[in-house]
Amino acid sequence: MSASTNPLLQVEFEIPFDRVRAEHVEPAIAELLTAARANIEAIAAETVPRNYDNTLRALEKATEHLDYAIGVVRHLEGVATYPELRAAFNAVEPLVSEFYSGIPLHAGLWAAIKTLSESRPKLTPSRQRLLVKTVDSFRRHGAELDEAGKKRLGEIDVALAKATTKYSENVLDSTNAFELILEDEKDLAGLPPSARAAARVSAEGKGSNGWRFTLQAPSYQPLMTYLDNREIREQVYRAYATRASAGEFDNRALTAQILELRREKAALLGYRDFSDLVLEDRMAKDGGSAQTFLEELRARTEDRFKAENQELRDFAGFELEAWDIGYWAEKLRLKLYDFDEEALRPYFPMERVVAGMFDIVERLYGIKVVHKPAAHVWHPQVRYYEIREESGSLLGAFYADWYPRESKRGGAWMDGFITGIYDPPNVEPHVGTICGNLTPPIEETPALLTHREVETIFHEFGHLLHLGLSQTEVRSLGGTNVAWDFVELPSQIMENWCWEREALNLFARHYQTGEIIPEDLFQKMLRARTFRGANVQMRQLGFGIVDLKLHREYTPQRDGDAIAYSRRILQEFSSAKLPEDHATIASFTHLFGSPVGYGAGYYSYKWAEVLDADAFSRFREHGIFSRQVGLSFRNNILAKGDSEDPAELYRRFMGRDPDPEALLVRSGLL
Ligand SMILES: [Zn+2]
Repeated sequence: MSASTNPLLQVEFEIPFDRVRAEHVEPAIAELLTAARANIEAIAAETVPRNYDNTLRALEKATEHLDYAIGVVRHLEGVATYPELRAAFNAVEPLVSEFYSGIPLHAGLWAAIKTLSESRPKLTPSRQRLLVKTVDSFRRHGAELDEAGKKRLGEIDVALAKATTKYSENVLDSTNAFELILEDEKDLAGLPPSARAAARVSAEGKGSNGWRFTLQAPSYQPLMTYLDNREIREQVYRAYATRASAGEFDNRALTAQILELRREKAALLGYRDFSDLVLEDRMAKDGGSAQTFLEELRARTEDRFKAENQELRDFAGFELEAWDIGYWAEKLRLKLYDFDEEALRPYFPMERVVAGMFDIVERLYGIKVVHKPAAHVWHPQVRYYEIREESGSLLGAFYADWYPRESKRGGAWMDGFITGIYDPPNVEPHVGTICGNLTPPIEETPALLTHREVETIFHEFGHLLHLGLSQTEVRSLGGTNVAWDFVELPSQIMENWCWEREALNLFARHYQTGEIIPEDLFQKMLRARTFRGANVQMRQLGFGIVDLKLHREYTPQRDGDAIAYSRRILQEFSSAKLPEDHATIASFTHLFGSPVGYGAGYYSYKWAEVLDADAFSRFREHGIFSRQVGLSFRNNILAKGDSEDPAELYRRFMGRDPDPEALLVRSGLL
């Protein structure tokens, strides 16, 4: 097939999404894989002296077309799938990932990169950074190991993939193995009608009478929050907390095995521990800094944590067990401020929210976001926009696809298709997308969003701007290709504008009357935000610290069983006594459900929150629509991608290192 008959065989700025069909996928990817392999062989075989263009730039170029094509296919599979497309994607996906993971192990290529690095070429700072990062990344993936080492690394990776897959399956199976059928309606006391109806439907689906409850979040959460019957809460809590820790789906041995494999892998590659291996390329740089960061936050959260726990105990009037906390916290919340999030919906009609968001970024960053008709979308609901400088020059374009469909996956996300190079006079625009599954319009009523959904739109658009405003001369260091613990700064900072009166007044208007959110409703919304903020924070800190301790300090011979070891740590972060058989770590797929995943990286949630709260304080100080601060954020953060050390970029914007103070204030802890 040629480019004229297969749309994936040509990189186009206006991506022909409507023309890409399942039958294009396998032939295009096969052809592009062959070409990419040949490109890599050609780089390795090059005989003229090594320079940036014939080695590093050539390596970037070697896979550019493949990157683009597989990105387009993966996207379509996520937003407009059908059986043939899914089958085609599943057929090519393993080949593509195998190809990418083989690159750092190509001996000739590694020799070429080392030769270039050792020749100490004079490069621009971002090209120099790409060189250092490429050398480090190859090394982290085993390029420098001898044959025996490479063989062992391969075995470890296979064993890790197997063990983590089995771990995930066990979590799923043990979660699904539990059900509780209640047949006496009296036992449902306290439960809201929506949860009762869902339990009824669930029972009917299984051919049972009564009401059926499971350990899936939509069933488990309401039960723990609302059910008056304490014995049932205890029973379900215990089932949840001991998932995958005994019997047929036991993850205890697998957890120990995964930890040992990760430890061995880190040692083989020359690192003190797995956290140092994983974090070397992140803003935190090593496990010790991440752990210190969490411990410091903990020290500043503990007083408020104790006070909140005392407050809840006093309110309940007795010593609370773990299965009482959610229930009594909800009762206290109701007493302090009865706040129904649904009451905000009429103030958040989709069109107005999006228009207001564009208005805000136009003020801040000196840009224009313009809606354009687009011919080549994957669904009529999709909107196409251009981002332009105020002067008119094109910076990028994006597709917005906000409503659920059966052919679309769940959740909300941003993705980039083309990251343009900025090397004047060569300036290429970017192309990306933001997608979600938000409340759709119903007949004559426009889409009315929850406040959380409004935050989601702002969040994903923040990621999009990180791509759209990128100005880096090295493509692979552009846009959102940044460290994992830095990537949520541009997105999360956007959410802050959803909590400011001045900003809300721009876009949060009643869809019928045009009125702004009434003051008492706004105040309730603010108070609900900080309710039991220390407990929320301690829970996250506990997970982050247990994750790092397991990957940095845990020694089986000394510390015994990993599950019991983790329970002792988590106990310090829990407001109630954990049962003897509590085994959260046996069902923690974030940490153990994939070879790396969030392993040694759980701290990033808090890390990013500290960054966004702190960075937003500069906007607060100078006015939340300040063009001066906006341009500083644009030039120092959004434009730079990963072309410089993120810690340095942050310092340039803030004039100092991150300070957790603003997060503590925002969470109601100070
Ligand atoms: Zn995000």
